Amino acid sequence: MTLSTGLIDIGVNLTNKRFNKDLDQVIQRAQAAGVVQCIVTGTSLQESERALALCLDYPDFFKCTAGVHPHEAKNWNSDTERSIRELASHDAVVAIGECGLDFNRNFSPPKDQEAAFEAQLQIAVDTGLPLFLHERDAFERQSAILKGFRDHVRAGVSHCFTGEKKALFGYLDLDLHIGQTGWICDERRGVHLRELVKNIPANRLMLETDAPYLFPRDMPNPPKDKRNAPEFLPYIAEQIAAYRGEPVEQLVQATFETTVQFFSL
Ligand SMILES: [Zn+2]
Repeated sequence: MTLSTGLIDIGVNLTNKRFNKDLDQVIQRAQAAGVVQCIVTGTSLQESERALALCLDYPDFFKCTAGVHPHEAKNWNSDTERSIRELASHDAVVAIGECGLDFNRNFSPPKDQEAAFEAQLQIAVDTGLPLFLHERDAFERQSAILKGFRDHVRAGVSHCFTGEKKALFGYLDLDLHIGQTGWICDERRGVHLRELVKNIPANRLMLETDAPYLFPRDMPNPPKDKRNAPEFLPYIAEQIAAYRGEPVEQLVQATFETTVQFFSL
């Protein structure tokens, strides 16, 4: 399928059990809202396999990533590596990740996180696929490790970027892309992004909901369960466009072109 234009949600956790009952309707509502494609996030070997299965069920609408989240890094071993490499050879797998470091609560020991991250960086080098990067409270270490691989990796996106100015400029200096979610809609913890988002060049910015997480808090008439879903991406796009001071149509077109090029869609 050749996409013309529209919104692409680069980060959806649609293998989450909160979508078990009504995935078809979720897809229909997303399409009715103008979302033309979603990239399902692989967070563990098992979830990456399920993400690929979803792509096979809905080949025009879904692509996915294959990788292991830093929370899961303690389970990384040579079998995991072999399986992720195998998944990565499938056409529907368009990035390696999510991978990276998360020192916020250290669900896996930092040294395990670094080992799993470096192994996945090497897979990105070997396959030529871009990276889908996760980082929390680990900017210094993550960027230091990335630096060693950057020349050999085609591209990378810092997904759900919520950090401060120093991290944003650090990642842009590493020629990475930046994923933005409805975090910017959160008056408790996302306000700093309202200024920062103006500094992301149009050809480096991509949009994501991170559904079912990160429901845009200031959206009018929210559903009772506050489950985030790709159908809310247009609202997030409107907010980001407003904070950037540009027409939303311009943002949608630019992020569409950036995303198609980044993931080779
Ligand atoms: Zn993440």
